[in-house]
Amino acid sequence: MKKYDFIIAGGGMAGLSLAYYLTQSTLRDRSILILDRDTKDRNDRTWCFWEPNAGPFESIVFRKWDQVSFHGTTHAKPLDMGGYQYKMLRGIDFYDFIQKELAKHPTVERKQATINRIKETPQGGFVIADDEPYIADYVFDSTFALKLDQPENHNLLQHFKGWVISTEKACFDPKMPEIMDFRVEQHGDCRFLYVLPFDEKTALVEFTLFNDKLLTDSEYEADLRQYIDQFLDTGSYQIAETEYGVIPMSDESTQENPTEHIIRIGTSGGFTKPSTGYTFQRTQRYLQGIVTNLAETGKPNRTQSWFKGRFKLYDSIFLNVLEKHRYPADDMFTRLYTDNRPAKVFKFLDEDTRLTEELRIFWNMPWGPFTVAFFDVLRRKMFG
Ligand SMILES: Cc1cc2nc3c(=O)[nH]c(=O)nc-3n(C[C@H](O)[C@H](O)[C@H](O)COP(=O)(O)OP(=O)(O)OC[C@H]3O[C@@H](n4cnc5c(N)ncnc54)[C@H](O)[C@@H]3O)c2cc1C
Repeated sequence: MKKYDFIIAGGGMAGLSLAYYLTQSTLRDRSILILDRDTKDRNDRTWCFWEPNAGPFESIVFRKWDQVSFHGTTHAKPLDMGGYQYKMLRGIDFYDFIQKELAKHPTVERKQATINRIKETPQGGFVIADDEPYIADYVFDSTFALKLDQPENHNLLQHFKGWVISTEKACFDPKMPEIMDFRVEQHGDCRFLYVLPFDEKTALVEFTLFNDKLLTDSEYEADLRQYIDQFLDTGSYQIAETEYGVIPMSDESTQENPTEHIIRIGTSGGFTKPSTGYTFQRTQRYLQGIVTNLAETGKPNRTQSWFKGRFKLYDSIFLNVLEKHRYPADDMFTRLYTDNRPAKVFKFLDEDTRLTEELRIFWNMPWGPFTVAFFDVLRRKMFG
């Protein structure tokens, strides 16, 4: 059996990004096998993220904006991104771009197969896919299904359904996406819409919830329809595409390196920011770190300063406030985005702020509920 240097189990966002970074590094001649059951030839999702500069996928960014709009409970205003840009990348453009890039490297193989098993062995990471065995020095696994059920943790879900609509009337401002619009009934949860315009007559309109109960299709659709009818002057409209997704919002620790030869990446590796669900940009950062370490030390582990661990605590406190309904989520986001400079908020969510900047953000948040949540998080972590 041929031994690969690296097997990438799951060639989705994280797996393909990793393969791309490997081929752009000094490790470009290593043998890589990418296994995925899917062909990745559909636009199965759209990623949004922010960054201050041109990123590695700049050439395929579908839309980018210097300003975004926010509709909170007491303020509705454009937010100046302050040096960041809000970017939108279509799944299909990403898959095509990386697949074309990987095709230039004869040491990269792709196989369409369903992975049945991933196992540690003394010789390396071992994978069975469509009953065929494969082995590698390292297996990067983005297929692991998270089991998020420990009661001391917070396990919410971010779930959403969206439509790309084509409208009769020119009703969208292509320069101004709406990143959060809370003008919908909250039902005690956190519920909002976002609108990402492609042009004056086309946009992705998505209904998003943070809670622990998925809705039925018709429930998502009823809210989408009501929002479009009430707030967007579309005239008649057609649904061109549909998007549905569920992202874990959890502070449960995932085992990123469960064994010596297996490394979990992407959602499976816990790369999702628990308090926001944003995963794309964090995955890029983490994978770049892994590839740098691998090239420099031969080990794929990600190095993290212990002081950065404070962001995990902030995420847990935020999830606790949401889960326990300690403060209305729409008011909380309104305070976050309107009482702070938006660029500071984006920097904070990227975990790039200094402690003094974080304290200034906390100063603008409701102290009582956050203090109660802080002690509840401590109690849960200590006593379960
Ligand atoms: C609809 C949607 C929209 C999203 N939008 C955003 C966004 O705007 N911004 C953001 O930051 N995050 C977003 N996310 C969250 C996150 O960025 C994506 O889920 C992202 O694709 C996660 O990357 P991943 O590689 O971990 O998983 P995936 O991209 O899902 O890749 C996993 C791959 O593993 C393959 N696979 C799984 N099991 C097997 C098996 N047994 N055998 C073979 N292959 C297997 C799958 O086919 C898939 O290709 C979104 C998620 C969804 C679902």
